[in-house]
Amino acid sequence: MKYLNLASGASYFASPATATEAAIQALQQGKTKYSEVAGTISLREAIAARYQTQASIKPEHILVTPGVKQALFNLFSVLITKGTDELLVPTPAWFGFHELMKYSKGKLVTIKTLSTEKYNLTPEALEAALNENTRILLLSNPANPTGRIYTRQELEALLAVAARYPNLYIISDEIYDLVTYGEPVTSLLSCQGKTDRCIVINGFSKSFAMSGWRIGYIVAADQVIAMCSDFQKSTFSGLSEFVQDGAKAALQFAADDLPAKLAILKSNRSILAGGLNQIPGLNFFHPDGAYYIFADFSAYLDCTTPTGEQFTTSIALCNFLKEKYKLELSPGDYFGAPGFSRLSFAIEEPDLKEAIIRLKTALASLVI
Ligand code: PMP
Repeated sequence: MKYLNLASGASYFASPATATEAAIQALQQGKTKYSEVAGTISLREAIAARYQTQASIKPEHILVTPGVKQALFNLFSVLITKGTDELLVPTPAWFGFHELMKYSKGKLVTIKTLSTEKYNLTPEALEAALNENTRILLLSNPANPTGRIYTRQELEALLAVAARYPNLYIISDEIYDLVTYGEPVTSLLSCQGKTDRCIVINGFSKSFAMSGWRIGYIVAADQVIAMCSDFQKSTFSGLSEFVQDGAKAALQFAADDLPAKLAILKSNRSILAGGLNQIPGLNFFHPDGAYYIFADFSAYLDCTTPTGEQFTTSIALCNFLKEKYKLELSPGDYFGAPGFSRLSFAIEEPDLKEAIIRLKTALASLVI
């Protein structure tokens, strides 16, 4: 039986050929020395151009980082300086946020959002969770794992609440911003009420299938960029120039590459949603962006397997699927949502169809 991985955060797509060619060319041209800490001016100009219609972003507001994870680590390091400082995260949330906080002085505080409320973070819930120690509100938009997209109205309502907290930064992780199936994502940078404490992080791992290249960026006000540049100078220096040339080509030729990938993902989303809809007791939020479905498997917990094993958590359910059906899903426990699991549909269509068959068979075999 072929192993089917629906747990990965990377899509099966190849990186854009234009990116690969540009990187090879840069290597052949000898672009192999230390480069500018902030990132090459040509890449920062290309990134700034992405935001021009929404906000006035200049290359000096951008720091190119070795991935979005590192952008977050950088920001947590410079903004969270005391043990009492809090990072506020609506859950379900990507497990990486939690892992990164293991190495921070501060603590992670969660606000629970519900699938029955379309994972909306209301201004009232935000207000109730904020206090003078909250240093950062971290949003994921489109969200991993739910695929929810915050509307402009929702973001502006959250910004209105945040305005009353002068020590609070808002980070919007927009790494999936080009992976959407309806309306485009509204960047936090384009919202009314945006302040110098609003920060966007983004990268090339998801939209451009370039996770192994390790490249992302921070877009922020001068003061934040100055702090983050100093952190990067002290801990990493500048990103490899050939990687940046590849990323710049990916951005420049995005229109040649993205539509075909999005069409496949959109079709895969229908296939997976259609398959899951046929499984009794399984509920999920229909994602508007990213490439996951985050489904509630709680109806299948407290079950007995055909060989008499019992499990009560989605971790145990996922282990059962992996061991017996060679099907890997990501347990919701890691995203702060026990009972749920995340299924990626960024895999090849025949594998996705086979995964659905295995999931149906496995769940049907359980004695509730
Ligand atoms: N943020 C989110 C929401 C993610 O899902 C991921 C990757 N799974 C990252 C950040 C990390 O991105 P990168 O590969 O650029 O470090």
